[in-house]
Amino acid sequence: MAVRRPNPYRVKLHHSYSVPELAACCDVHRNTVRHWQRNGLKPIDKGRPMLFHGGTVRAFLIARNAGRKRPCPPGTLFCLRCRAARRPALDMVDYVPITPDSGNLSALCETCEAPMHRRTRKADLAKNMPGCAVEIARSPP
Ligand SMILES: [Zn+2]
Repeated sequence: MAVRRPNPYRVKLHHSYSVPELAACCDVHRNTVRHWQRNGLKPIDKGRPMLFHGGTVRAFLIARNAGRKRPCPPGTLFCLRCRAARRPALDMVDYVPITPDSGNLSALCETCEAPMHRRTRKADLAKNMPGCAVEIARSPP
């Protein structure tokens, strides 16, 4: 299955890639490479077959991946339905320990009431969820 966020470091810096080679290298469909091209990935020249320089591809993918990050400010979790960082409804958050030091926060979105999740360290609970009532659950069996 194709990956949603291709690893830029699989592209060799001093190689040139045709569209099918680049698609195979990044484990994406050929149309995805064409889509990257429409979004700013520059081929080496206008010749056929179209070739892409590895360094250009890597820089493009690194910039693209960085631009997709949506860091959550303290007190928020990422809501997949709203596609934004949201406060938990009624400021209530559940903490489910996964390891002795870290666990998952779950809450409902205050806007659309969809479930939201966030991974956090136990020591950072007060820093990441200021002003929220955090209920610490037992670890699952
Ligand atoms: Zn939401």
